[in-house]
Amino acid sequence: MSDIKLEEIFIKRSQQKKKTSPLNYKERWFILTQEKVAYYDFDSEKGKRKGLKGTVDLEKVKCVETVQPETNTPQERMYAFQIIYDEGPLYIFAKTEDVRTLWINELKKLVRFNKDLMQKYHPCFWVDGVWLCCQQEVKQAMGCKVLESSTKNGFQSTFRRTSRKPLPPTPKVEKLGRPLPPEPPEPPASSASMTVVAEYDYTPVTPQDLELRKDEEYTILERSDPNWWKARDKYGKEGYIPSNYVVEAERGLEKFDWYSKNMNRSQAEQLLKSENKDGGFLVRESSRAGKYTVSLLAKSGVEMGGSCRHYNICTTQQGQFYLAEKHHFQTIPELINYHQHNAAGMVSRLKHIVSNRAQPPSTAGLGYGVWEIDPRDLTFIKELGSGQFGVVKYGKWQGQHDVAIKMIKEGSMSEDDFIEEAKIMMKLRNENLVQLYGVCTKQRPIYIVTEFLANGCLLTYLKEGLKQHPTSVQLLEMCKDVSEGMAYLESQQYIHRDLAARNCLVDANGTVKVTDFGLSRYVLDDEYTSSAGSKFPVRWSPPEVLLYCKFSSKSDIWAYGVLMWEVYTLGKLPYERLNNTEIVDQVSRGLRLFRPQLANDKVYSIMTSCWCDKPDERPTFQELAFNVQDLLYELQ
Ligand code: ADP
Repeated sequence: MSDIKLEEIFIKRSQQKKKTSPLNYKERWFILTQEKVAYYDFDSEKGKRKGLKGTVDLEKVKCVETVQPETNTPQERMYAFQIIYDEGPLYIFAKTEDVRTLWINELKKLVRFNKDLMQKYHPCFWVDGVWLCCQQEVKQAMGCKVLESSTKNGFQSTFRRTSRKPLPPTPKVEKLGRPLPPEPPEPPASSASMTVVAEYDYTPVTPQDLELRKDEEYTILERSDPNWWKARDKYGKEGYIPSNYVVEAERGLEKFDWYSKNMNRSQAEQLLKSENKDGGFLVRESSRAGKYTVSLLAKSGVEMGGSCRHYNICTTQQGQFYLAEKHHFQTIPELINYHQHNAAGMVSRLKHIVSNRAQPPSTAGLGYGVWEIDPRDLTFIKELGSGQFGVVKYGKWQGQHDVAIKMIKEGSMSEDDFIEEAKIMMKLRNENLVQLYGVCTKQRPIYIVTEFLANGCLLTYLKEGLKQHPTSVQLLEMCKDVSEGMAYLESQQYIHRDLAARNCLVDANGTVKVTDFGLSRYVLDDEYTSSAGSKFPVRWSPPEVLLYCKFSSKSDIWAYGVLMWEVYTLGKLPYERLNNTEIVDQVSRGLRLFRPQLANDKVYSIMTSCWCDKPDERPTFQELAFNVQDLLYELQ
């Protein structure tokens, strides 16, 4: 697990690996570690890091230098620098000269012993197929300026100006593995210019909503509510759309049904196997940032039910794409089209598109501003189970949207308090949290209406639902899902208070989502709420909760460690030989859960880091999510 050396929001220029790819500038959250520079998408409103967009391995870096601004450069792109590595230059724009210098110096220090460091470089940008400094038209053309650093001071930027008063440097890590929170990102300069493509149809629910048609483009006008953006369609009509139904028009792959942007390896396998078609395939983002993978199911082999293969789409030096060595293509769609007709080295040709877009994702609420749901819009289909608050049913909202409906047994919940809280809960939206859609409070029993997850409770799924023995990637991905949902709650300063496998659900693709966050505060049952009660989650509680009822995000972290343990034991009861009184006694005296057989040392060390006696020494969910992701990289 790598320590973060520097962390900063920068503007990044698209790399134009192909001549035809568009030139654009996006704000990204950059992280520098000993081994790599990684950059992420982020939520500018929440100041929260999102998906990884790309990485550069430092061992491949050949040069780090400033870049001269182009004429008429806007102020925010004045302080450019370049990281040149085997895929060409990566252009980054710092907000100030001091931040730029800090990064260049740190990067130079880290790469100073690299093998292929360049002696000459291009001090200006590569734009539209030409180097602006020397007018050469070959991207690989040798640099035209001798590096100052190769002749004198190795760590100084060549364009360092001294006239400005230095700003305080970017904060570094506070202590081992603990990055300080990054500066809150500035709001996007102009959200008006953002164009998105709809991944799903969306039918308006309220008069303020705007209809979305799959694959059409929309202009985003306002993003003050992170879940419901104001948009304009091509006819000039304006209204609110669910922000998770659209993607930024970025690489042009979004419009192809075979492209499943946010899908990992085991989700791809699960989807391909559930479709069970020979030659079923999809293209997804690879775990190596900026790369793509074709996942393919072939049934002709020996394995019953077929086996999945994953082929990385490779790039030639000239930026062409290939799967089989001999056949190169300018674009990924051309490559896919070719392999739809020719296996050319793969186990099968790409026969059937398998898409994860059949089911649109959940929206935060059923329409902009809707949180009270009319019970006449609900149809009850079947019972899913029952819990602390009574029966939970699967049903439809307005005859077409899948929902889960919790029918709150009278006397089991302090309802007025919950109804107030529900308005806040509705605004929480994350791919790894079960979405609250709304409530029916005008009748008794009241209903809580949420997203429906086809594979039900995680604990049951671990014990019975996994059809084959799970792979280590699958287990770690479940933990990653939970860590990301919880990192979001942590960023909202929201405490779960009852995190455990029984309070997570699994969707049809195998994605795990956290549910019932904060609900325990509204339970009316002493056996559940008192730490001495028989239903209190003693097995998931840290000493400070058992002894002083002190809940915090750090007590959630402890519970997360226990949840990881449940995942790696496929649903065993923690401390199964001990009763609650014995657990309180022994855990306060230092007893910890053993290492499950399926967990290697690294996985177990993540669990044990959650079980530090001192709450402050436990990691944050953001750190956990990062560490789990690092382990996943190692596995893939
Ligand atoms: P309670 O909050 O009343 O304790 P639970 O949340 O434990 O109830 O729900 C009881 C059972 O209903 C769960 O174990 C699960 O199997 C099923 N269930 C609950 N919510 C959903 C949902 N959103 N999607 C699918 N199944 C669900």
